[in-house]
Amino acid sequence: MEKTLPSGIKVRSKGRCWYSLCDRSAEQVVTFQSEHSTRKQVPLGYCSDCIEQWFLSDEEYEQREAGGRNVLGTGIYRRSWYEIREPSEVEAAELAYERDAEERWKAEGRVGKYRRIVELHQAAKVDGFLVDAWTAAACVKLHDTLNEANRKKWLGLDVRGQCHVAATLLFGK
Ligand SMILES: [Zn+2]
Repeated sequence: MEKTLPSGIKVRSKGRCWYSLCDRSAEQVVTFQSEHSTRKQVPLGYCSDCIEQWFLSDEEYEQREAGGRNVLGTGIYRRSWYEIREPSEVEAAELAYERDAEERWKAEGRVGKYRRIVELHQAAKVDGFLVDAWTAAACVKLHDTLNEANRKKWLGLDVRGQCHVAATLLFGK
Protein backbone atom coordinates (compact mmCIF):
# COMPACT_ATOMS: atom_id res chain seq x y z
CA MET A 1 0.00 0.00 0.00
CA GLU A 2 1.19 3.47 -0.76
CA LYS A 3 1.19 6.29 1.70
CA THR A 4 1.72 10.03 1.36
CA LEU A 5 3.62 11.48 4.31
CA PRO A 6 2.69 14.94 5.65
CA SER A 7 5.68 16.45 3.83
CA GLY A 8 4.31 15.07 0.55
CA ILE A 9 6.70 12.17 -0.08
CA LYS A 10 5.08 9.00 -1.29
CA VAL A 11 6.36 5.72 0.09
CA ARG A 12 4.95 2.25 0.55
CA SER A 13 3.51 1.19 3.91
CA LYS A 14 5.92 1.18 6.85
CA GLY A 15 8.11 3.69 5.01
CA ARG A 16 9.34 1.22 2.45
CA CYS A 17 10.99 1.99 -0.87
CA TRP A 18 8.68 2.98 -3.72
CA TYR A 19 9.90 0.15 -5.96
CA SER A 20 7.17 -2.41 -5.49
CA LEU A 21 9.42 -5.46 -5.29
CA CYS A 22 11.73 -3.92 -2.70
CA ASP A 23 11.34 -4.42 1.04
CA ARG A 24 14.01 -1.98 2.15
CA SER A 25 13.26 1.35 3.80
CA ALA A 26 13.09 4.53 1.74
CA GLU A 27 16.21 6.63 2.29
CA GLN A 28 16.28 9.21 -0.49
CA VAL A 29 13.81 11.47 -2.24
CA VAL A 30 13.35 11.17 -6.00
CA THR A 31 11.35 13.71 -7.96
CA PHE A 32 10.76 13.70 -11.71
CA GLN A 33 11.94 16.93 -13.28
CA SER A 34 9.84 17.95 -16.18
CA GLU A 35 10.52 21.17 -18.02
CA HIS A 36 7.38 20.80 -20.06
CA SER A 37 4.90 19.94 -17.39
CA THR A 38 3.27 22.47 -15.15
CA ARG A 39 1.95 19.68 -12.98
CA LYS A 40 3.59 19.39 -9.62
CA GLN A 41 5.59 16.18 -9.51
CA VAL A 42 5.23 13.94 -6.49
CA PRO A 43 8.44 13.18 -4.59
CA LEU A 44 8.95 9.45 -4.06
CA GLY A 45 10.98 7.68 -1.40
CA TYR A 46 13.47 5.09 -2.68
CA CYS A 47 16.20 3.09 -1.01
CA SER A 48 19.77 3.81 -2.09
CA ASP A 49 20.18 0.36 -3.63
CA CYS A 50 17.22 0.83 -5.96
CA ILE A 51 18.47 4.26 -6.99
CA GLU A 52 21.82 2.72 -7.89
CA GLN A 53 20.14 -0.08 -9.78
CA TRP A 54 17.30 1.63 -11.62
CA PHE A 55 18.41 5.22 -12.20
CA LEU A 56 21.01 5.13 -14.93
CA SER A 57 23.42 7.72 -16.27
CA ASP A 58 22.56 9.11 -19.73
CA GLU A 59 25.27 6.94 -21.21
CA GLU A 60 24.09 3.72 -19.62
CA TYR A 61 20.51 4.52 -20.40
CA GLU A 62 21.26 5.18 -24.07
CA GLN A 63 23.31 2.03 -24.31
CA ARG A 64 20.41 -0.02 -23.07
CA GLU A 65 18.10 1.76 -25.44
CA ALA A 66 20.48 1.22 -28.37
CA GLY A 67 20.77 -2.42 -27.35
CA GLY A 68 17.20 -2.81 -28.53
CA ARG A 69 15.83 -3.38 -25.10
CA ASN A 70 12.62 -1.66 -24.35
CA VAL A 71 13.49 0.92 -21.75
CA LEU A 72 10.18 2.59 -21.13
CA GLY A 73 8.06 0.78 -18.63
CA THR A 74 10.80 -1.53 -17.46
CA GLY A 75 11.58 0.33 -14.28
CA ILE A 76 14.76 1.86 -15.69
CA TYR A 77 15.06 5.61 -15.51
CA ARG A 78 17.31 8.32 -16.83
CA ARG A 79 18.89 9.74 -13.72
CA SER A 80 19.37 13.21 -15.16
CA TRP A 81 15.62 13.59 -15.49
CA TYR A 82 15.18 13.26 -11.75
CA GLU A 83 16.14 15.24 -8.74
CA ILE A 84 17.62 12.77 -6.26
CA ARG A 85 18.40 14.10 -2.82
CA GLU A 86 18.71 13.28 0.84
CA PRO A 87 15.54 13.86 2.85
CA SER A 88 15.28 17.06 4.85
CA GLU A 89 15.24 16.82 8.63
CA VAL A 90 11.45 16.84 8.70
CA GLU A 91 11.19 14.25 5.94
CA ALA A 92 13.79 12.04 7.64
CA ALA A 93 11.80 12.17 10.86
CA GLU A 94 8.62 11.19 9.00
CA LEU A 95 10.39 8.29 7.30
CA ALA A 96 11.74 7.10 10.66
CA TYR A 97 8.26 7.31 12.16
CA GLU A 98 6.86 5.10 9.37
CA ARG A 99 9.76 2.70 9.67
CA ASP A 100 8.99 2.20 13.35
CA ALA A 101 5.31 1.48 12.66
CA GLU A 102 5.42 -2.16 13.75
CA GLU A 103 6.94 -1.22 17.11
CA ARG A 104 4.45 1.58 17.60
CA TRP A 105 1.52 -0.70 16.86
CA LYS A 106 2.87 -3.38 19.12
CA ALA A 107 3.31 -0.93 21.99
CA GLU A 108 -0.31 0.19 21.70
CA GLY A 109 -1.73 -3.27 22.23
CA ARG A 110 -5.09 -4.07 20.71
CA VAL A 111 -5.73 -0.60 19.27
CA GLY A 112 -2.33 -0.86 17.61
CA LYS A 113 -3.53 -4.07 15.97
CA TYR A 114 -6.51 -2.20 14.56
CA ARG A 115 -4.20 0.56 13.28
CA ARG A 116 -2.00 -2.03 11.62
CA ILE A 117 -4.98 -3.54 9.78
CA VAL A 118 -6.03 -0.07 8.57
CA GLU A 119 -2.54 0.91 7.43
CA LEU A 120 -1.83 -2.31 5.60
CA HIS A 121 -5.42 -2.66 4.30
CA GLN A 122 -5.32 -6.24 5.32
CA ALA A 123 -7.78 -8.13 7.50
CA ALA A 124 -6.16 -9.88 10.45
CA LYS A 125 -7.14 -11.73 13.59
CA VAL A 126 -7.24 -9.68 16.75
CA ASP A 127 -7.43 -11.90 19.83
CA GLY A 128 -8.79 -14.68 17.65
CA PHE A 129 -11.46 -12.57 15.96
CA LEU A 130 -11.05 -11.68 12.27
CA VAL A 131 -11.27 -7.92 11.73
CA ASP A 132 -11.44 -6.38 8.25
CA ALA A 133 -9.92 -3.03 7.29
CA TRP A 134 -13.28 -1.26 7.26
CA THR A 135 -14.19 -2.34 10.80
CA ALA A 136 -10.66 -1.69 12.07
CA ALA A 137 -10.91 1.86 10.68
CA ALA A 138 -14.14 2.35 12.62
CA CYS A 139 -12.43 1.12 15.80
CA VAL A 140 -9.46 3.45 15.34
CA LYS A 141 -11.67 6.41 14.58
CA LEU A 142 -13.91 5.76 17.55
CA HIS A 143 -10.97 5.20 19.87
CA ASP A 144 -9.37 8.46 18.81
CA THR A 145 -12.54 10.54 19.12
CA LEU A 146 -14.07 9.22 22.34
CA ASN A 147 -13.60 11.17 25.55
CA GLU A 148 -11.59 9.52 28.25
CA ALA A 149 -14.46 8.02 30.24
CA ASN A 150 -16.15 6.50 27.19
CA ARG A 151 -12.87 5.35 25.75
CA LYS A 152 -12.18 3.47 28.96
CA LYS A 153 -15.58 1.77 28.70
CA TRP A 154 -15.04 0.87 25.07
CA LEU A 155 -11.55 -0.47 25.79
CA GLY A 156 -13.12 -2.76 28.40
CA LEU A 157 -15.10 -4.62 25.72
CA ASP A 158 -13.81 -7.70 23.91
CA VAL A 159 -12.86 -7.44 20.24
CA ARG A 160 -16.29 -8.47 18.98
CA GLY A 161 -17.90 -5.87 21.24
CA GLN A 162 -15.49 -3.13 20.22
CA CYS A 163 -16.06 -3.83 16.54
CA HIS A 164 -19.80 -3.94 16.95
CA VAL A 165 -19.98 -0.65 18.86
CA ALA A 166 -17.57 1.13 16.51
CA ALA A 167 -19.35 -0.01 13.34
CA THR A 168 -22.78 0.81 14.78
CA LEU A 169 -21.84 4.27 16.01
CA LEU A 170 -19.84 5.31 12.98
CA PHE A 171 -21.68 3.67 10.14
CA GLY A 172 -25.02 2.77 11.69
CA LYS A 173 -24.53 -0.82 10.68
ZN1 LIG B 1 14.41 -0.17 -2.93
